[in-house]
Amino acid sequence: MIMDNERYAASFAEVCTKRCGGLCCNPWWGIISYGVVKKGGLSGLKAFKTELTSGIREREKRITSAYVTAEAPPRPLFGESERYSLKLMGVKRNGDALELSLLAMFAFRCRFLSENNFCSIHPSLMDSKEIRPPHCGNLGSPLAKSGEKWYCRVIEAAGSGDETLTKAIEVEKASSERHLMEGAATAEEAAEKIVEGLKAFCIKSFPDLLPREKAGTPGRNDPCWCGSGEKFKKCHGR
Ligand code: SF4
Ligand code: SF4
Repeated sequence: MIMDNERYAASFAEVCTKRCGGLCCNPWWGIISYGVVKKGGLSGLKAFKTELTSGIREREKRITSAYVTAEAPPRPLFGESERYSLKLMGVKRNGDALELSLLAMFAFRCRFLSENNFCSIHPSLMDSKEIRPPHCGNLGSPLAKSGEKWYCRVIEAAGSGDETLTKAIEVEKASSERHLMEGAATAEEAAEKIVEGLKAFCIKSFPDLLPREKAGTPGRNDPCWCGSGEKFKKCHGR
């Protein structure tokens, strides 16, 4: 059961600050779903990794440019992402082209989050002035349903009693920690994981898309024939 606005207004501070401790800001997860197409089967994976890395950086920049304070001059909330969690959600084949569905999660540390997990530019500390981006003020809307903008499962759980609320906070915390742990330290590492996942997927599902082995077997320290950029011994020579 979702709380109505009146109950929400009365207990927002209680739930967000005292119980939850500002989980959605620590870290603040920027999530973007997008697709990329890899042409030519699995050849040219080194160039594809570079393209993936640029795509990740470009989306990271898109978030950092969009989340700024509403003041002159605006101040950005985030610097570089602390972790890059990029997941391969699906692969569709179209001839020798592979259509990848990706989910990118960026873990940002907001420069306005205090050591005690308080938002230091919250309107209550700013004479009711709201300078945060709209997302900050709207997250946790009690009327938002799962899958809708501004939905927070912790806020929803608060309407179903203390035990449900405690459980929801634990689940939220564990999920955030897992994404942090699984995420890569750099955009390059995240792209590398996708390339490895794609290779493994194609070897199993579309072996005909593997580049044809060149005449003769490369030496162990030579570049692998598949174009991954790895040494043969670390790739198809394993
Ligand atoms: S909006 Fe949700 S996740 Fe964010 S602080 Fe409030 S209860 Fe926690
Ligand atoms: S500005 Fe405040 S509410 Fe927004 S992400 Fe930073 S700490 Fe959280």
